[in-house]
Order: sequence, then C-alpha cells, then structure tokens
Amino acid sequence: MPRADVVVIGAGLSGLSCAAELAERGARVFLAAKGMATTHWTHGGLDLAAPAGASTVRDGVHTLAAIDGHPYRSLAADLEAAAVAHRARMAAEGLRYAGSLDAPLIPLPTSIGSLRPAAILPAAQAAALEPWAGTRLLLVGFGRYRDAWAPYAARNLRHAAWPEGPAEVGAVEVELPGLGRLHNIAPQVLARLFDGPAWRTRAFSAITDVLPAGAWRIGMPAVLGLDQHADVHAEAERRLGHPVFEMVSLPPSVPGIRLFDALRRRILAAGGRVQIGFDVVRVERTGNRIIAIHTEAASRTLRIAGDAFVLATGGIGGAGIRAQHDGTLVERVFGLPVSAPPRERWFSDDPLHLHPLETAGIEVGDDLAPFELENVRVIGSGLPGMHYLDERCGDGVALASARRAVRSVAGDRAVAA
Ligand SMILES: Cc1cc2nc3c(=O)[nH]c(=O)nc-3n(C[C@H](O)[C@H](O)[C@H](O)COP(=O)(O)OP(=O)(O)OC[C@H]3O[C@@H](n4cnc5c(N)ncnc54)[C@H](O)[C@@H]3O)c2cc1C
Repeated sequence: MPRADVVVIGAGLSGLSCAAELAERGARVFLAAKGMATTHWTHGGLDLAAPAGASTVRDGVHTLAAIDGHPYRSLAADLEAAAVAHRARMAAEGLRYAGSLDAPLIPLPTSIGSLRPAAILPAAQAAALEPWAGTRLLLVGFGRYRDAWAPYAARNLRHAAWPEGPAEVGAVEVELPGLGRLHNIAPQVLARLFDGPAWRTRAFSAITDVLPAGAWRIGMPAVLGLDQHADVHAEAERRLGHPVFEMVSLPPSVPGIRLFDALRRRILAAGGRVQIGFDVVRVERTGNRIIAIHTEAASRTLRIAGDAFVLATGGIGGAGIRAQHDGTLVERVFGLPVSAPPRERWFSDDPLHLHPLETAGIEVGDDLAPFELENVRVIGSGLPGMHYLDERCGDGVALASARRAVRSVAGDRAVAA
C-alpha cells in the first residue's frame, strides 16, 4: 500500500508543478489523476494574465489582484518566482519559453484565424511575438490534416481587426510524404513522424517545393516533433529558410503534451510517482484531517495514505467540481463546499464567452487550506473567483498556487521550505 508525505490529486499544470517542486525538495510525492488535464487542450504557453486593457502581463496581474475575491488578490505575490521556477524546470527538459511579464501583450494569430493576446510562449511559437507591421505571414497546412485548415485561417486573418498586423497573409497546402492512404491524422501522429530524421527531410522538401517566392514568416500546425522537438523546429527554420512558428489547433495539443511529459519526467527523476487513470473514489478522514484516498486502479481499488493532500482537480472544466440536477455543485474528492454564482446565473447568453461557472471553486485561506480540512491544500482552477478564459490567468494561478502550497504543506510535514 503506497504511503507518501504529500499526495497530489490531479495532473494539470498546478498538480504537476506542485508535485515536481515537492519531489525536488525531497518529499515523497504520489500524484494520482483520473486522466489527462487541460494541458492537452491548450497551447502550451503561459497565460499568466491578459485581461482586457492590459498592456503587459504585469499590468494584467495588477488589475486582477485588485478584484475582490480573485485568486491573485493573495497569490500575485508568488507569481513571478513561480514562473521563473517553472521556466527553469522546463528549460532543463529542453523546452524554453520566450517573453516576459514586462513584454507587451500582442495579438497572436490562431489556427482558426482569430487573434488572442500573448506574451510568454514556447520558443517554437516565439516568432509570432515579433512585430508584424510590414511583414508577410504564410500559413502552411497539411493535406488530410483537417484540424488546421490554412486557407480558412488565412481568410479569417485577412478580415480580422489586427492592429499593426502583417502586410499580407498567404496560405499553401502540402501533401506530406507517405500519408496518402490516411483520412484523418491526429496531431501526435504527425509529431511522431517529424521526430524521425528521414521522414522529416522528405517532409521539409515537400514544403519547400510549394513555398512562394519572397520573405515570409511561416505559421505551421503545432506538430514539429515530441521527443526531438527542439531539433525539428531548428531544422524547419534552416531547411525552409524563413522564421517558423507553431500554431496550436484542435486538441490534443502537442505543445501541451510536451509540457505534460517534461513535468512528469521531472517528478519521476526526483523520485516521485505519477499515476494517470486513478480516479479518487473514496477518502478516509479523522476529524479535520484526511488520512488516505482510495483510487480506481487497474482491476482493484488502491489506498494511498499521506500526511498532506493537495487537491489539483481543476474547476468545472477539469471535472474537479460537478454540477448536479438539483442545482447544487459538488467538489468530487473531499466533498468540500463549493462557492459559485446562484443557479439562475449559471447560463451565459454567449456560449463562447465568460461562462459564469468558471468562477466556481473552493474557498481557502491564504495558506490554501479549505476551512474544514487542515492537511489539505487547494490549487489551480479549483480556486474560486476567476474568469480564466477572459482574464487568461489560469496558468498563472496554477503556478502561483502550486508554489504557495509547497511552502504551506511544509507546516504539515517536514518538507524543506
Ligand atoms: C477547455 C479548457 C480551456 C482552458 N483554456 C485556458 C486558456 O486558454 N487560458 C487560461 O488561462 N486558462 C485556461 N483554462 C483553465 C486551465 O484549467 C488552467 O489554465 C490551468 O491549466 C490549470 O489547470 P489545473 O491544474 O487547475 O487543472 P486541470 O488542468 O483542469 O486538471 C485537472 C486534473 O485533475 C484530475 N481530476 C479531476 N477529478 C479527479 C478525481 N476525482 N480523481 C483524480 N483526478 C481527478 C483530471 O483528470 C486532471 O488531471 C482552460 C480550462 C479548460 C477546461
């Protein structure tokens, strides 16, 4: 029966970061998660803060920290150090970021031809952060890869309100070698193909053949390798002779998978355990302390005992909180009370904008302990009060709360702070 100093529940950015830092500090860590997390949905960049009107991330954090009930009210103080530590951890795994808290938030072209604000991106997306005025953008799409359709995205970008955008947006489609019999290709399949030096040489030749003359900045589906990603991206720029940046399309997100893999490697290298497919189905509690969780493992239930427990199961989006037919919300692991808008305000008029239930979460103190359980900490998007899709602060809250939790559980357990 496993026993850990700290049991982390959830494998999103918050749970993985928290488990990595705890393991690096010498704690025995067991991370259990029901399944893959938001990492596999999103862009692999760092959304720390980009509310409307913010010119930089720091400016955005300042705005959000002034909002009553927002997690940054307390956590803004931890954000910068948490982002530095995260970037160092990722760089050690060969995944670097470009940008900073003080760099301007600029409109980033997406693979559906919309724009979203960004300032800190993986190195392979960084060419999109350079000024666009007077330049030319070429979107390269791949035949049979339906999740990123270059002509459609280019048309939308030509009509987008893109201040200081490129002078021209073009699009080409390429038939990649050896894929003629496939109808639907998943992004991770293409990424694995790009990892192979022989196949990618042929692929880059096919792309070179269709490039129009002149100077371009090339946006390409985010499939430039998984394990060999840095080499694949460098080779793309060398072989094509233009700056190349990855554009994330429909899930699963290859940059997100790289992020997940890198953090999991860090936890394992530091002696921690990571188990995916472990839904927590029951907990043992004595008074106001949790003693153990029980998870659905292969063919049996596994009991994992611990001194401290970190709840990183996400909010409504991550399935850490569920809405019930009777109009109540439940936190699924410990049954903690959920703070949320009243039921009549659950539904938004615009399905793509500001879902009111985004703000649902578990109320905690500054140490991130919920008021009922002294050896539990809540981190990530299970915290209440943020509109992460609009404020673009979900990753920042994940990292800052993970860091705060590491320091906070040191009080429950002998984890070097
Ligand atoms: C579809 C989607 C898109 C988003 N896009 C953005 C964005 O563009 N920008 C932004 O700033 N934020 C975005 N967010 C918010 C996002 O959640 C955060 O940015 C950030 O990734 C924090 O995630 P997390 O670690 O809190 O939880 P999550 O990434 O949600 O991970 C939750 C983890 O908990 C596990 N889990 C849940 N219940 C159980 C259980 N009972 N037992 C065991 N494990 C369990 C899940 O399997 C998963 O591994 C998005 C969220 C969603 C859902």
